[in-house]
Formats: sequence, structure tokens, C-alpha cells
Amino acid sequence: MTTAVTVDYQSLRFAYRRHADQDAPADAPIRHPVVVVGAGPVGLTLAIDLAQRGVPVVLLDNDCTLSTGSRAICFAKRTLEVFDRLGCGQRMVDKGVSWNVGRVFFHDEQVYEFNLLPEAGHERPAFINLQQYYVEGYLAERAAQLPLIDIRWNNKVTGVEQRADHALLTIETPDGDYQLAAAYVGACDGSRSNLRQLLGQEATGRVFRDRFLIADIQTDADLPTERRFWFDPPFHPGQSVLLHKQADGMWRIDFQLGWDADPVAERQPERITPRVRALLDSIGFGAAQFTIGWASVYTFACQRMQRFRHGRVLFAGDSAHGVSPFGARGANSGVQDADNLGWKLAAVLNGEAQDAAAEALLDSYASEREFAADENIRHSTRATDFITPKSEVSRLFRDAVLALSRRHAFARALVNSGRLSVPAVLAASPLGTPDAEPFAGAMVPGAVAADAPVVDAGGHAGWLLRQCGGPGFSALVFGNDDEARTSLQAIEQSGLALHVVRVPVTAEGALAAQRYDARPGTVYLLRPDQHVCARWRQPTAAALCAAVDRALARSATMETAS
Ligand SMILES: Cc1cc2nc3c(=O)[nH]c(=O)nc-3n(C[C@H](O)[C@H](O)[C@H](O)COP(=O)(O)OP(=O)(O)OC[C@H]3O[C@@H](n4cnc5c(N)ncnc54)[C@H](O)[C@@H]3O)c2cc1C
Repeated sequence: MTTAVTVDYQSLRFAYRRHADQDAPADAPIRHPVVVVGAGPVGLTLAIDLAQRGVPVVLLDNDCTLSTGSRAICFAKRTLEVFDRLGCGQRMVDKGVSWNVGRVFFHDEQVYEFNLLPEAGHERPAFINLQQYYVEGYLAERAAQLPLIDIRWNNKVTGVEQRADHALLTIETPDGDYQLAAAYVGACDGSRSNLRQLLGQEATGRVFRDRFLIADIQTDADLPTERRFWFDPPFHPGQSVLLHKQADGMWRIDFQLGWDADPVAERQPERITPRVRALLDSIGFGAAQFTIGWASVYTFACQRMQRFRHGRVLFAGDSAHGVSPFGARGANSGVQDADNLGWKLAAVLNGEAQDAAAEALLDSYASEREFAADENIRHSTRATDFITPKSEVSRLFRDAVLALSRRHAFARALVNSGRLSVPAVLAASPLGTPDAEPFAGAMVPGAVAADAPVVDAGGHAGWLLRQCGGPGFSALVFGNDDEARTSLQAIEQSGLALHVVRVPVTAEGALAAQRYDARPGTVYLLRPDQHVCARWRQPTAAALCAAVDRALARSATMETAS
């Protein structure tokens, strides 16, 4: 009989192990294709993605623990789809709390309710709530299954030098310093990024003059699984409060405190307990018991590095950009950075993109994700401005909008308690081929492919994105054999090693066909990160080849990244 082992991810410690690379002569450091710095959610995602594409990775972390304290809990649908491709999405969903519904209150009255995923036919929910240490723990366990990943704990990067064909990293360990040469470095070392400082770079933006108490509490109160946000509630007057359910019966409460709050005093249980008690009383759980798990007082900034690529060093996640947590865009956008970077590094390292194309492809990582970061910062800044108005006029406007939103849909559109993370549409990307024929709907070149229920070749019901999880480019071909014959012939004539996914336009594939505005013979070309990069009603072999060349930055017609 086997017994399930319960892992306490919060107190897990990973062992430091001396590596043979540490014994290399000082003038001949060992060379690796990719070194990823930082085993947070972003570095782990990047390492797994690269390993699954056949690229060996050294993953360095200055620590020997997973995330501690109250950090990310809301992981978005797109992040789960990426984790599915990495082989650990189901674990996250099984452990996390799935939710689609949110409620917004002004004083003690609900002003509106929203559903982030009102339509059926998606495998994953809009969000799960799961403590960051579980997410990192599951990613670390997945990484440990992949022989191409060499994780080195207690390895702190303290130096980086850009050389002609590599970056030279200096690494501090309990056994002293050593050096590694890396063809490319994934800088995923978090918001205080050493690599950013070592390269003389900075992240600039706006720091919000407000403080938030973030408390994780365990309670027996049977609260509903939905996001609740209060503006100026009677139990916490003049401020805002956010409530979320997490795994293990843990609840996350964010109490806005104001800039003058004392961050040390507010962390004390005697200050937290009455705040939590008042909230529970006011929502009808006055008799509930609770214990405080973790509490911190935070301030937030929205900022980013000007460029995410510096030669052979590519910044991803919090090292590159930071947002306030309203909208859950930090880890979610960082995972999308890694998703964008992994296949591009693999294409450069395996020779699919060489010389000028390699440079352009890596530059496209920077331009695409800088664009996405700007979008995230814009949303996050607007939400934070709405939640924490900085002048009496702004507050009056905000309260008027909230009061009107009870009855008027136009006002609801102006309420901003955090527009929740959705992937950016990279419509201006130089890697996308503009449409030559009219298409309706959201699946424009640059969009992340939408999921839909489909039936696979063996007649099994499944999900479209699961079928597009291969390492290379995929072609979604709509219609049956007769209807799609010309398109299938074009794919064959192109000689491209595309992963072909057949989607009927009737019955089981109807929803997919509708989402993609597909007719019999329609073909969508998806990048390895499942972004649409071209589509045709009926492609030619030449058009397919040109689109793949363009998506790998090999095309002479490529425009400069904006
Ligand atoms: C209160 C709060 C709530 C949040 N809620 C959400 C949410 O709901 N959803 C969401 O998406 N995001 C949320 N975030 C943001 C999220 O936590 C971060 O965006 C996420 O952790 C970024 O991941 P990362 O891998 O880029 O960096 P980190 O998680 O900071 O990981 C960086 C890693 O690099 C290592 N490291 C640092 N320096 C070195 C070095 N010199 N050498 C080697 N290793 C190094 C560190 O030890 C660490 O393991 C929240 C943040 C906070 C503070």
C-alpha cells in the first residue's frame, strides 16, 4: 500500500550540491547554452519550457526555499494553459480554487457582479487561486523530472560580463565563487534583480503612496468562492478591502491602510484581529473562528526596464517589470514572458534562426513583451488610481461612479477594482503576417489561440489547445478531408514540419470554427507559444513558408520592431 506524502512547501529546503563546474580552471569556465537566474515562477517556467524543447538549462537560485509569505494567489487561464503544456497544469487546477465570479460593493451594498468567463467551452476557468509556494513547488517538481534541467540552489549570481559570444557569470556558493559562460542568460531574478543592477540598468515608473495590509487567514467560515471587493465599507471606512479564497481553507484579505499607516504596528495580530473580525461580522460570519497565517504590509510600484534585452541577457518577470497586484498581472505576465522567450531561444540555439534572424527574433521577445508590460502597467495603474484616489476631486468622481453603477451599465464600465489579467494581443508584432482576406472575431494575428472542445483523430473528446502543445509550429486545418484537401496539399508541398491539427467545422468542432471564424479549408498557423501568426481561407505552400520565415524573423520583408 502506498501512502500519499504531504509536502509542506512553505518550509521545504532544497540541498546545495557542489557541481563539477565549480572545479573548472578559472581561465576556462564551463560553457552552457542557457543559464536561467532565479527559480521563481518565471525562471522555473522558462527552464521547463526550454528543456521540453531539447535545450539544456542551468537554473541558479540564490536561495534554497520556495516563495514565502503572502505573494501571488490568482493564476489566470492563460497561465494555466501554459502550465498544461509544461505538464503540471492539472495539479495546479486540482489544488487551487477555481473561480469566475466577482462582486463589487460600495459601502455595504453590492453594486454589480461580473463573470470573467461567461461562455462555456474552455478547459480552464478564468482564474484559480493558489498560494505561490504551491505553484513554485509543482513547477520545481516538474523541473526535477527533466534531465536537461540542472537546478543549483544557493548559487547567487554576483557578476555578469557581456563577451562577444557569451555572457560570463560569477556565482557565489557556500564553497566559494565560480564562473560559468552562457550563450544566453534568462534574468528571472525578481524585482530587486541583481542582474539589472550589475548591467547598470534600472526599472523606472511610479510608486504608489499607499499601504496595504495583506493577511492570509484560516477560517471555518463557509464563504462563497468568488472575488469580493469593497469600496469604503462600514467595517473599514474610507478604504478598500479585497477578499479571495485560496487552497487549504486559507483566505487572502487585502486591507488598504493609507500612506500614513505604520507598517510595523499594522502587522501585529492585535491590529489585524479586529479588522478581520469586523469584516466577518459584517458579512454574516460573526461566529466564525480564524487564525492568522501570514501578514505583511506592502507598497506597490508600476515600473519597467526600458529594454528587456541587453545583449545576451534577457530579462523576464519581475526583474523586467512590476505592477500593483490589482489585476493579478505580476506572475501571470511573467509566465507569458517565459512562454514567449523559450521557443525563440530554442530556435536560435537549434539554428532555425541564425545571424541577423537570431538577433531579430530575440529583439522581438523584447518588443513584444515590452508592449505587453505597458498594457499591464496601464491597467494596473488605472485600477490603483481608482482604488486609491489621490485627491478629493478624484474621490468624489470615484464615489459618484460607484453610486451610479448600481443602476447604470455605463457607470459599471468605469468601475475599476482591478481589470484581471488577460494575455496581450501582439497585433503589431513583426512576426505576424497581416491578413490578406477578411476574417471576423478575436483570433487576429498576434492573439493567443482560443481553446474550444474538439474531437481528436481517434474520436476522443478533448481540447483544442491540448492538441497544439507540440514544440514547433502548428497548423489548425478546418474542415473534413474533402473540404480541406487543397489546404492540406499546400502544407505537404511546403515541406514544413508543421504539427497539423484537424478541426471539423460541424458538430464537435462547431464552437472552434465559430471562435476562429473558420470555413472549410481555413488554416491558422500558430507559433510554438500558441499565438496566431497567420491565417488564410486557403493557403498556398509559398504563403505558408513565407509566414513561418516571418515568424522566425528570417524574412527579408520583416519590418523593424516598433
Ligand atoms: C502581495 C502580493 C500579491 C501578489 N498577487 C499576485 C497575484 O495574485 N497574481 C500574480 O500574477 N502576481 C501576483 N503578485 C506578483 C508575483 O508574486 C510576482 O510577479 C512573481 O513572484 C514574479 O516572479 P519572478 O519569478 O519574476 O520573481 P520572484 O518570484 O521574485 O523570483 C525571483 C527568484 O530569483 C532568485 N534570485 C534573486 N536574486 C538572485 C541572484 N542574484 N542569483 C540567483 N537567484 C536570485 C530569488 O531567490 C527568487 O527565487 C503578487 C505580489 C505580491 C507581493
